[in-house]
Amino acid sequence: MEYHDSEKAKEVASRVEAFMDEVVIPREREALRTGEPVTEDELEEFWEMAKTRDLFAPQVPEEYGGQGLDFSDMLPSFEQVGRSLLGALSIRANAPQEGNMHTLEMVGTEEQKEEWLRPLVQGEISSGFSMTEPMGGGGSDPKMLQTTAVRDGDEWVINGHKWWTSDGLDADFLLVMARTDMDAHPYEGTSIILVPTDTPGVEIVRNVPHLGGHDITERTGGHAEIKYKNVRVPVENTVGEEGEGFRVAQMRLGGGRLTHCMRYSGMAERSLDIAKAYLEEREAFGSDLSEKQSLRHRIAEAETKLHMARTGVRHAARELDQSDARIEVAMSKVYTARVTNEIIDLALQVCGGNGIGKDLPIAHFYEHVRAFRIVDGADEVHLRSIARDAFEDVDPAEVDTALRFDEECRADVLDD
Ligand SMILES: Cc1cc2nc3c(=O)[nH]c(=O)nc-3n(C[C@H](O)[C@H](O)[C@H](O)COP(=O)(O)OP(=O)(O)OC[C@H]3O[C@@H](n4cnc5c(N)ncnc54)[C@H](O)[C@@H]3O)c2cc1C
Repeated sequence: MEYHDSEKAKEVASRVEAFMDEVVIPREREALRTGEPVTEDELEEFWEMAKTRDLFAPQVPEEYGGQGLDFSDMLPSFEQVGRSLLGALSIRANAPQEGNMHTLEMVGTEEQKEEWLRPLVQGEISSGFSMTEPMGGGGSDPKMLQTTAVRDGDEWVINGHKWWTSDGLDADFLLVMARTDMDAHPYEGTSIILVPTDTPGVEIVRNVPHLGGHDITERTGGHAEIKYKNVRVPVENTVGEEGEGFRVAQMRLGGGRLTHCMRYSGMAERSLDIAKAYLEEREAFGSDLSEKQSLRHRIAEAETKLHMARTGVRHAARELDQSDARIEVAMSKVYTARVTNEIIDLALQVCGGNGIGKDLPIAHFYEHVRAFRIVDGADEVHLRSIARDAFEDVDPAEVDTALRFDEECRADVLDD
């Protein structure tokens, strides 16, 4: 499908596509069939190749070692990397690293950028974003955040309990969301603080066992439960302005939700491609499966919805250049999450037992995609925002809705 992406966006995406098809997907296939995980050395080889092809870290400015693409121009490349389980990792555009790079680049100090962003981009270190808390703390409703950072001289003293910190197990630093002003409304009194993981008091408790937990690389970032007990870091480790934590997170998440949409849409596209090829070759009840009208219609619906999702993301990306585009991003996130879940489920179904088997990536995609309806804001949370916007300017007096009860017909007896 042709989109009105810029020439540059198309050109880079076509080179990312070639890199996936020539290098990354063949290695993914081998890993799936043999069970041989992709090693750290191999990942570094991918990064070197991506650098040679000018594809490495497309989202990062050139001065920090990336390709310096603007947001709309990099999105089509994210679609391409989503087609492989190794894709985003192979060009260093994987979550949460990509979002953390973006955060430091947006609001980090020059010192933070030199010390943490530069090696993060190069893959010399790793990071996590530590916001979600267990029962009693902040989840869908971030106002419930319980983790605190109290100032003591030139230091923050952080106490809190988090879970689901992606890549937390092998992170070298964590961006921790904590309340820094207990009297202010949480949206005004929360800050993001950079905590090196070797700081005393940081306890990585465990990897939370989860759906889609099996990886095909040696990487063990996982989704960590972490306790922070009297963790002391310098006040200069505040990322962005003090008290601006939610605003920074919102800036991070706006773009992050769209890059996630694109990666998942790549998974859906590849699943559909595999499904169509399977249906073309597989016969049952006297014809190729691809000739069964009921299946043809479902594939046609899937193609249509995938196109709608991708168009919506491109529109939201353009709006994001002008404003925070909260509603457009929310609509894209909730729609793409549902559609990609639906499409990958369909692809798995029509491939029969082969869909369940793990020779193909579809079963892996199926395990990964379910979380997308929860991470980056659950469906219901985005629908809440969309609904609030939808009802904002409604004035029933101005709209001819229905016949109104004629007051003269009301019986006086009711008032007695
Ligand atoms: C794979 C994975 C990776 C993650 N990575 C990170 C990470 O790197 N860093 C991080 O900080 N967090 C991370 N998370 C956490 C994720 O952001 C949260 O799970 C998500 O925000 C939902 O919060 P919760 O789990 O506390 O759900 P809860 O807040 O307990 O909500 C439970 C459910 O209630 C429903 N719900 C919520 N609000 C409403 C409402 N207003 N109306 C109706 N229904 C509602 C939704 O269905 C929701 O799923 C990750 C989670 C997963 C699964």
